[in-house]
Amino acid sequence: MTFQELHLIEPILKALGEEGYSTPTPIQAQAIPIVLKGTDLLGCAQTGTGKTAAFTLPIIQLMDANQTFQKPKKIRALIVTPTRELAIQIGESFKAYARHTSLNYTVIFGGVGQSPQVSALRSGVDVVIATPGRLLDLMNQKLLSIANVEYFVLDEADRMLDMGFIHDVRKLLAALPRQRQSLFFSATMPPEIVQLAASILRNPAEVSV
Ligand code: AMP
Repeated sequence: MTFQELHLIEPILKALGEEGYSTPTPIQAQAIPIVLKGTDLLGCAQTGTGKTAAFTLPIIQLMDANQTFQKPKKIRALIVTPTRELAIQIGESFKAYARHTSLNYTVIFGGVGQSPQVSALRSGVDVVIATPGRLLDLMNQKLLSIANVEYFVLDEADRMLDMGFIHDVRKLLAALPRQRQSLFFSATMPPEIVQLAASILRNPAEVSV
């Protein structure tokens, strides 16, 4: 299996070549076609399996194919992850994979001043990668709206629950549009995670690695 066979577009293939990736990992081979079709995804995968590219690459491709050129830009994709380290890592991956497209992003997390994050948002971004607390904080201050999000990713859902973010996640869900594509990743699938996934996803395809 190659990335070409997954029907990824040239700007993405070029970036993957530059990253030194030659073969998709199992989660990538399984998830990318599902996401490109527009189907919701329930993914059971740990960090280290290549799951970041599994959700980032097809979202980049879908967004690039349907650019809106709206000004100011509205946030079209939201990736929520439990820790600042993960948010930064996903941001670095997004930057690398999207470097030959015109899509831009910013990373939002707590424990640091909010003004650089607010400036980035003001200048307009397509993609926000965030931890739940600071994201809600900025939403409550009306500095950010997720009302136009088309692609929603909940990453490391089990860790999110363990860290006590369930109420924050529920508040986010209430602010998201109903019409969207959602991807849900968790390393484990205990009953409360299955229930949370069911409340987020619509007719999901399931992938487990
Ligand atoms: P992740 O599970 O998303 O945190 O990715 C784990 C590591 O694998 C990261 O350092 C990625 O850059 C790397 N990686 C992801 N996909 C591939 C691939 N197809 N080929 C080689 N390395 C990859």
